[in-house]
Amino acid sequence: MSSALLENYGERDLALSHGVGSHVWCEAGRKYLDFAQGIAVNSLGHCHPRLVEALEAQAETLWHTSNLFRIPASEQLAEKLTGLCFADRAFFCNSGAEAVECGFKMMRRHHHKKGHTKRDTHRKRIVGLSDSFHGRTLATIAAAANSTHCEGFLAGDAGFDQVKFGDIGAMAAAIGEETAGVILEPVQGEGGIRPVDPDYLNKIRQLCDENDILLMFDEVQCGVGRTGTFYAHQRLGAEPDILASAKGLGGGFPVGACLAREAVAASMSAGSHGSTFGGNPLAMSVANAVVDEISTPEFLEQVRANGAHLMQSLRDLQTANPEVIARISGLGLMIGVFLNVDAGRFIAQLREEGLLVVRGGNNSIRMLPALNVSRDEIDQALAHFVRALKKTESK
Ligand code: PLP
Repeated sequence: MSSALLENYGERDLALSHGVGSHVWCEAGRKYLDFAQGIAVNSLGHCHPRLVEALEAQAETLWHTSNLFRIPASEQLAEKLTGLCFADRAFFCNSGAEAVECGFKMMRRHHHKKGHTKRDTHRKRIVGLSDSFHGRTLATIAAAANSTHCEGFLAGDAGFDQVKFGDIGAMAAAIGEETAGVILEPVQGEGGIRPVDPDYLNKIRQLCDENDILLMFDEVQCGVGRTGTFYAHQRLGAEPDILASAKGLGGGFPVGACLAREAVAASMSAGSHGSTFGGNPLAMSVANAVVDEISTPEFLEQVRANGAHLMQSLRDLQTANPEVIARISGLGLMIGVFLNVDAGRFIAQLREEGLLVVRGGNNSIRMLPALNVSRDEIDQALAHFVRALKKTESK
């Protein structure tokens, strides 16, 4: 371990050296089944040949130009993404937090530009939900208001309000004269995997329309095929005005996108926002290949079928082992297992068996396999899970 690194990630004892698809090897040579995949980032697994080919071809041609010049691959990607959802315009950046941040700026700018009345120009506040996660910049930690993430960082009121997840009355009460919009994850990730109820989501959409404010979805973790539709909200029946995308969009290459309807995007005139690396040729060539691979109906159908199989198998394990597993929640291949035993210890036991997963909030683990994981690999993961359960019960 390098002592010169900031200690923010805590102690880590495993270094991974290479991977292929759903498998990864550590430096000591042990093979693992990877159901963490860089926290829902490697959407096509490790070193997918089509992504390697796209990256290598671009690396030999042109790496970086800045946004002083047109980047045709970014224009292509914007066309593809807007063709796949509600949006008309795309802005590219390098991470999830930047995509969310762009959305916050758009919300405020939209009302500012519209500002024929004093009320419009005062619309700066943004309402978020409890147990959310939107990134680690000052604005995104303020939006999620997780006290651990905020400690020592925020000075005064940063312009965000939070309401309890699921409480529509609290949401209605939180929307006031100064509210610019609402942000939420259609399927919460870091806080413990939890899809929003479609009825609740539609009521939030209605409240936003009635109050002439904007609705933004943070699909950084749940987007790009993860739940079995290209964007998760497409399974839930309500559309946003703005959407933040990242993680799986680059399949392991850093890329983020903020998508918006024309009426909102129109406020972002020349000079209003920017990024040195955003939309660079390397990232765009990989993301174009990712989207081509994931956006087909057959691919998404496979995610839904494999997700349903994994979910049902885990529910069966929960029924048989209620003393260890409290409940299962999720959508597609984004599945949370909430435990009655210590999640950290269970994750360590799974790793012992050869399965890598991610910890989530509320004493849960997250299963986030590659979207092209095979049925056989899912069954192998379940076999590891069963062995870990047996060892946990016998302790
Ligand atoms: N939003 C959600 C829902 C996330 O899950 C994450 C990361 O986990 C982020 C935003 C922040 O993304 P990044 O770490 O790329 O800034």
